Amino acid sequence: MNSAKRTGFSRRRFLAATAAVAGTAIAPQVMGANGRRVVIVGGGFGGATCARYLKSLDASLDVLLIERSPVFVTCPFSNLVLAGLDDMASITHGYDGLRQAGVRVQHGIASDIDADRRRVHLAGGQHVTYDRLVLSPGIDLRFDAVPGYDRVAAEVLPHAWKAGKQTLLLRRQLEAMPDGGVVILGAPANPFRCPPGPYERASLIAHYLKQHKPKSKLLLLDAKDKFSKQGLFQQGWKNLYGDMIEWVAGSDGGIVEQVRAHDRTLVTESGFTEHKGDVINFIPPQHAGVIARSNGLTDAQGWCPVDQGTFESSLVPGVHVIGDAAIAGKMPKSGFAANSQAKVCAAAIVNSLNGREALQPSYANTCYSLVGPEYGISVSAVYRAETGAILPVEGAGGLSPMAADAEFRGLEAGYARGWYKAITADIWG
Ligand code: FAD
Repeated sequence: MNSAKRTGFSRRRFLAATAAVAGTAIAPQVMGANGRRVVIVGGGFGGATCARYLKSLDASLDVLLIERSPVFVTCPFSNLVLAGLDDMASITHGYDGLRQAGVRVQHGIASDIDADRRRVHLAGGQHVTYDRLVLSPGIDLRFDAVPGYDRVAAEVLPHAWKAGKQTLLLRRQLEAMPDGGVVILGAPANPFRCPPGPYERASLIAHYLKQHKPKSKLLLLDAKDKFSKQGLFQQGWKNLYGDMIEWVAGSDGGIVEQVRAHDRTLVTESGFTEHKGDVINFIPPQHAGVIARSNGLTDAQGWCPVDQGTFESSLVPGVHVIGDAAIAGKMPKSGFAANSQAKVCAAAIVNSLNGREALQPSYANTCYSLVGPEYGISVSAVYRAETGAILPVEGAGGLSPMAADAEFRGLEAGYARGWYKAITADIWG
């Protein structure tokens, strides 16, 4: 006799019961002493930092992190994987460290927010209530922005602007390319995730080509006329790769107007110029992750306006947005910035829930880039939110010097590796 017959629990009743569960709340489990719960959606640079710091600032809070994936693969250092200098394991992080820090981690997709009843609904039909909600969903690629570049085209011409399967796809294409081939990289207009990212990527792909396919070329078609750390990058390209990298500014014909995946071609200058590549890495325009866009948290450009001191949404009270999805004044969309904003947001929430006054926050960001494995450059800034916008503090920060020797660049490459170790330990460790 099987157990269903013994208990009289038929398949029909089982299905009815699971359907009922699908519409219920997530079990409350450990609620804080005062029954206050903060829910965070997105366990990347912003969300995982915020969860950890909320719990460490107020251990009585019930902190629930909802994250789609069982592990997080970082975009930072994924360009090293593309160049064959690192592997995927080195940029993959799990959530056990956060669990040990007292954060509840639930893997699933948050779909809807009911701000009036302070509820988040999950794709499976469950919901969870919150006192405060923090979203750090990162970006989505805009598959409607450049004709011909949609989800299907991205399987042929990877963007690799979210790390994981796309990183591996681009890596395999680079490995399969013959010596003497052309790699084309298409970079978007501002604002987008990681302003120096496309140029670090061009550098490290050139490093791989120089080592393994030295007759090859890299064409960088840019929608912009200038880019982050431009002088330093171009100096490094000349020093390390000669004329292997050709950069085309937007006003010189760099704006990609059409993508043809079937013959690996990017079209510019109103159809007058066609660029055919052996490998094409096309990075399209971006906007905030869908949970923010479909719940009234974004402006007409697809990004989230927020209070610059607390990161509470200007559009939906009780919901905070941090990281790439947020409009954070002059701060770039970087992992370092998301980490810095997350700490300020956590402190603002804890102070508010405990009836304490908000602090006057300051923020920091350093973006390291590797022009080669032993050639690092950086830009740093400190920011304050003083007049309703986050602005850099004059004199605090700056760029690596143009006049520096190989030892200096080598030291900065070491600092970049140290930064990666430190920030990932701070977040997921
Ligand atoms: P993410 O870190 O992307 O996290 C978003 C998380 O939310 C994801 O885990 C996603 O699965 C989850 N999620 C989204 N929606 C939902 C939902 N509805 N339900 C459940 N989960 C959801 N920054 C640096 O500071 N230094 C660097 O050197 C650097 N290098 C980079 C190199 C490249 C090639 C790229 C592309 C980016 C780089 N960045 C770098 C930028 C950095 O990756 C981002 O700025 C950072 O990841 C933003 O953090 P975030 O929390 O906003 O989003």
